[in-house]
Amino acid sequence: MKQIIFFFSISILIFSSCKSYQAKTYDFPKPVDTTDKPIERQTKKQYSFPQQGVYADNLFDGARLNDFKFIQEDLYQATISPENFPINHSAYYAFRVWSDSPKTIQVELNYTHHAHRYPPKISRDGKNWEALDSNLIQLSTDSINVFLTLATNSDTLWVAAQEIQNSTHVKQWCEEKSQHENVLLSSIGKSKMGKDLLFLDIHNADVKKKDVIVILARQHPPEVTGYFAMQAFIDEILKDQPLSNDFRKKYRLLVFPLMNPDGVDLGHWRHNAGGVDLNRDWAYYHQPENRHIANFIVKTVKQNKSDVILGLDFHSTFWDVYYTNREIPEHIPYFKEYWLGGISQSLGEETNERPSNLGGPVSKNWIFTQFNALGITYEIGDSTPRDFIKEKGKVSATEMMQLLIFKGK
Ligand SMILES: [Zn+2]
Repeated sequence: MKQIIFFFSISILIFSSCKSYQAKTYDFPKPVDTTDKPIERQTKKQYSFPQQGVYADNLFDGARLNDFKFIQEDLYQATISPENFPINHSAYYAFRVWSDSPKTIQVELNYTHHAHRYPPKISRDGKNWEALDSNLIQLSTDSINVFLTLATNSDTLWVAAQEIQNSTHVKQWCEEKSQHENVLLSSIGKSKMGKDLLFLDIHNADVKKKDVIVILARQHPPEVTGYFAMQAFIDEILKDQPLSNDFRKKYRLLVFPLMNPDGVDLGHWRHNAGGVDLNRDWAYYHQPENRHIANFIVKTVKQNKSDVILGLDFHSTFWDVYYTNREIPEHIPYFKEYWLGGISQSLGEETNERPSNLGGPVSKNWIFTQFNALGITYEIGDSTPRDFIKEKGKVSATEMMQLLIFKGK
């Protein structure tokens, strides 16, 4: 009997200690249903028009091409559909096209929902991208579709809404970063389709009681410019310079550079493979991506008796903006004002901050309700110049490190 009681008590202990490592659920004022929704998959194939000697395909991760038709003479139509509906106005597309001989063709991007948003980028190798000349882009009379004039030849021409940064590219970047002695790369779980949820653990020396900064990116697949800013931000923190070296000794960064690998590889406009906006699932964690990452952060912090003091979630929208909360957090309560002011001053621009009351289950609100810490949705414009994004990411990291190191918490 004693043995049974002992075993029973141990089980309760194990059960309760596991339970305490789970992220807590929270009833936000504006709840969102994040249970699975069906998605429409694109048919992965090559479209061939041997009479015209023209070909197109979507046989790569990050592609979005739902149909490709020959219309007449040199005109073709590429149909682009979202993964499901309703969905945000973020009509993402990506495909390849080539021809037997050099040609000039017109491709109409035919959107089944919403309208054209992203100015096309082109590439000959899928790595180096440039904007398609604006003279070669013509909006349809109803301003929904767009006609692209493309010079094709036997080399593949990549055409995409934004530079392709699929799960393979992000993994390569993570592997590069993991060469640094203060970076550990791992996978903390699997997405709905079984892809790795990549994690970079950045710190120097002991992690016990070390204050933690959480970094998230790519909840929304097309939001590549926010990801670029995050890359520059991390690069600055990893630099071998006194400020960065001191910072890594004092703080720990938990970085999740690709929260939605399925959506990214499927060329989704917004959602994951469960057809859900992951940045609305920070209350009940119906989707595996949120569940694994939220529980992992809570567990890591509790095990080390640490505090999350700041959470930055990198996104993209039509312009650069910071979405913040009006609530004042317990940790670093006035950091936000100094930080955003410092970034603007360094870059010589106005701070575009949009504060709001605690509303829906988005990551910044999760950071606040879960850890009583500051959460910021850090948004970069779709067409913000890429050099400026790099500079902004770098300046954002420098200002943050200076504030947290020299000015104290
Ligand atoms: Zn977003």
